[in-house]
Amino acid sequence: MPFRDLVNQRHAIMLLRTAARGGRVSHAYLFAGPAGVGRYDAARAFAQLLNCHRPAAEDACGECRPCRLIAAGQYPDVRTVDVERGLLLNNDPDEQKKKVISIEQVRALRREVVFPPLEGRYKVYVFVGADNMQAEAANSLLKILEEPPAQVVIILIAESTVPMLPTVVSRCQLVRFSLVPAAEIEQALVSRHRLDPGRARFIAALAGGQLGKAVTWATSPEALEWREQALDLLERMETADPLERLDAAEAAAKDKERLADLLDVALFWYRDVLVWQEMRGDTYLVNLDRKERIAALGAAVPGAVLSERIRALEEAKDGLRRNVHPRLLLENLFLRLTPPAEPSRR
Ligand SMILES: [Zn+2]
Repeated sequence: MPFRDLVNQRHAIMLLRTAARGGRVSHAYLFAGPAGVGRYDAARAFAQLLNCHRPAAEDACGECRPCRLIAAGQYPDVRTVDVERGLLLNNDPDEQKKKVISIEQVRALRREVVFPPLEGRYKVYVFVGADNMQAEAANSLLKILEEPPAQVVIILIAESTVPMLPTVVSRCQLVRFSLVPAAEIEQALVSRHRLDPGRARFIAALAGGQLGKAVTWATSPEALEWREQALDLLERMETADPLERLDAAEAAAKDKERLADLLDVALFWYRDVLVWQEMRGDTYLVNLDRKERIAALGAAVPGAVLSERIRALEEAKDGLRRNVHPRLLLENLFLRLTPPAEPSRR
């Protein structure tokens, strides 16, 4: 995807476009920032712009042969090295199974990198997960960065520069990527992925600034179905007896992958009810599509009880970070999500 299709990251994009326009392309870049905010998309857009046959308005056309092949990951002069998944430069099946970039692979890259591009203007190497590269391989990569061949651009993608060799970091131009504001994610989900506004709001909130996570949610029927079940579970907590709460905790604890999401879904849910009580409107609701239920709960559950539930959820999130056993964590939590002590009498 060309730069115009990226969401947010204006600063990073401006820096890269300016470099391409002025012919001051650095031989190495370090794209640093959280996962899921568009670092890899930006690397591909940059590779497209550098090799596009018909660039216009400081962006790749997106349609010429290099643009299309780069988007499909099939352009001979643009290679991706995925450090975490061990996805490599050569097609040796044994090498592909490895989980880290080995010293041999970086050596192979050093041999290959000196040849001119096969058909493009620039050879671009993208290293995904560069902060997980082991020291030996990183040292070998450093040799390439010290004597950069002409027409080669190396892009390292990392969440943080902290675990990386300072000598590697210092030889790259740093390009920072930041979390995407929820409002922009929401807008992108509605305009590009044709999501209805209610779900877009919810997904944008849950994504925590990571557009990639939002798109996964938006395009996965399974994820949306899971969200319905999670909200149904919270609804059951309004009337469940203690035994039912413990059973529900046991069942939910089995889905470890979704535990953090479950806590977030619950937080947004009770927060919505509180917001409803305060504002009596849906402008700030995250779960727009469940407005009626939120209004009903807002009338039935006192604000103090909701605040206590939110406190319990914050503590559970804290426990999750400290690796508290999932079942204990959820049992404790679900017992605290109790209905109000006294039914309100009118
Ligand atoms: Zn093009």
